Amino acid sequence: MSSGDTRCLVAGNWKMNGLLDEAMSYVNELRENPAPEYVEVAIMPPYTLLHPMNKPLSDKDVRLGAQSMYFEEKGAFTGSIAPMMLRDAGCHYVILGHSERRDIIHESNALILKKLHASWRVGLEPILCIGEHLEEREAGKTNDVLKDQLSILEGIEGNKALTVAYEPVWAIGTGVTASPEQVVETHAFVHEELTRLGLDCRVLYGGSVNPGNARALMGSEGVEGALVGGASLKADSFMQIVEAAANAVS
Ligand code: PEP
Repeated sequence: MSSGDTRCLVAGNWKMNGLLDEAMSYVNELRENPAPEYVEVAIMPPYTLLHPMNKPLSDKDVRLGAQSMYFEEKGAFTGSIAPMMLRDAGCHYVILGHSERRDIIHESNALILKKLHASWRVGLEPILCIGEHLEEREAGKTNDVLKDQLSILEGIEGNKALTVAYEPVWAIGTGVTASPEQVVETHAFVHEELTRLGLDCRVLYGGSVNPGNARALMGSEGVEGALVGGASLKADSFMQIVEAAANAVS
C-alpha cells in the first residue's frame, strides 16, 4: 500500500457542522472508548476546530484531517487555507475532490490534481473522493466517470501516501447506500484502475454509512474503511461504526 497506514480507516467528515463546546464534549465521549487495534480513526471537523481538537484527539490516537484546502503556499488568496496551515494545526489527512466541492464549488480534476501535489509537498495524506451521479450510474457510465476522476493519478509515483474514497453521489446524505453487489463490483473496478496506474492504496466506501449498515459494508470485498458524514456528527453513532469496522476486520 502506498498509504503509510495499512489499517482500515474510519473517517468522520463533519462538513459545515460543529461549534467549540460541542466538539469538546464529542472528544470527551471518544476518550471514554478504547480505540480498536485494527481500525484507524480520523475526524475532519471544520477549520475552526482543528487547533482545539488536535491535542485531545492525538492523546486518544485519533487522527485529524481537513475537508479541503487551496494549493498555493501562501499569499493573496482571501478566504483560502494553505496546506502548511493544516499541518501546523495537526492534520494528517485532507479530503480532496469531495462531490460537494466538485458540484457546488465546481472544482475540476485539474484543480484537484494541483491540490494533490500541494498536499504531498507538505506531508499531508490526501483522501481523494470519486463517485458517479445517479444519472451516470443509470446510463451505465459509472466506470467511465471513475476512470476519468482517477486519471489525474496517471504518472504519480507509487510511494505517495494516498487513500481513495468511492462515494456514489446518490448515496451521500440520502440514507440510500449502494447495494453489496454494487459496492463489491465498483470497488473491484477502482482497485483494478489503481493497479493499472501502479498504485496500491486503501479504498474507502462513503455514502450514508450508519451503525446499522457499517458491518456489512466494511466486510465487503475491496472495502478498506469508510468516509462517514451525517452519522459521524454524534460520537455515539460514530463509535458504533468504528466498532462495526473492527468486528468486520477481526
Ligand atoms: C460524505 O460526506 O462524505 C458522506 C459520505 O456523507 P453521508 O455519510 O452523510 O452520506
